[in-house]
Amino acid sequence: MKNLLPLLFVVTAAAQPVTIAHRGASGYVPEHTREAKVMAHAMGAEFIEQDVVLSKDDVPVVLDLHDIHLDTTSDVATRFPDRKRADGRYYALDFTLAELRQLSMHERMDHKKGTQAYPKRFPASTGGFRILTLDEELELIAGLNQSTGRVAGIYPEIKQPAWHRKEGHDISPIVLRVLAKHGYTSKQHACYLQCFEHDEVKRLRGELGWKGRLIMLMGGGKTGVGGSNFEHMRTDAGLAELAKLVDGIGPSISSIVSGNQITDLASRAHSHGLEVHPYTLRIDDLPKGIATPDELMHLLFDEAKVDALFTDFPDVTVNWLMKATKH
Ligand code: CA
Repeated sequence: MKNLLPLLFVVTAAAQPVTIAHRGASGYVPEHTREAKVMAHAMGAEFIEQDVVLSKDDVPVVLDLHDIHLDTTSDVATRFPDRKRADGRYYALDFTLAELRQLSMHERMDHKKGTQAYPKRFPASTGGFRILTLDEELELIAGLNQSTGRVAGIYPEIKQPAWHRKEGHDISPIVLRVLAKHGYTSKQHACYLQCFEHDEVKRLRGELGWKGRLIMLMGGGKTGVGGSNFEHMRTDAGLAELAKLVDGIGPSISSIVSGNQITDLASRAHSHGLEVHPYTLRIDDLPKGIATPDELMHLLFDEAKVDALFTDFPDVTVNWLMKATKH
């Protein structure tokens, strides 16, 4: 049998910046579907992102429950109308994998307005997409890596570990077991693990013994859940502390680019030896003061010298970087 492992990736001192497909090629196909991941791979993204949550029976599934829950990306409300919580929302954690597999996934809806969050994207009225487990997605990417001969790395995010634990489920060790099963265990492997919760990032490095690459995600505000003091993290003292723990930071684009100027955060992070991977380029939702995707990528890559970029449109970023390196 052919051995697909390990997925080694070459680390050079002057590595070129890379493209991270945010939830797959989510600008074109509903996020986190098999189709979105295949498209991201075909577009040449160096890394493909997985947001990971647990099912009721503790299976890690690739879904985002960051701000909104199952009801904005699936038909859960019509299929399981009596399974919402008191807040009116549907949580993946309340459904077994067998139940989650019955859902039809679609393009993201705006919960408040009841309309499509990004109107020009894939029509939300068309469903038929299915949920993937983390195990299935890593198998898919390994298969594409073999059949195309081009290795795309993985970029899993552990979603809301403190909330999961409060609900009686410990997500991180379960995710680490699936990563190990697929050969992702060290910094030599094409994998970045990411999380917004500082306490959990410390736990991953300490108690849970994660030896692979690790990214501290940073919200744009002052604080987040799980002991995250983003305001402190952005200071030199905060960056120096992070540099002992993680390989890089994942700040919002708005922390790196303000209007049409860059801030000093990326250069200060670099001076502490941290990589900088901001989120998220959306060509249909550019930051204020930015006229085109090219203008934003010029600021991020040429001026702020970021090392990677989360993008809903992997082809746009891959093409921009290819043109940039030809100059
Ligand atoms: Ca994410």
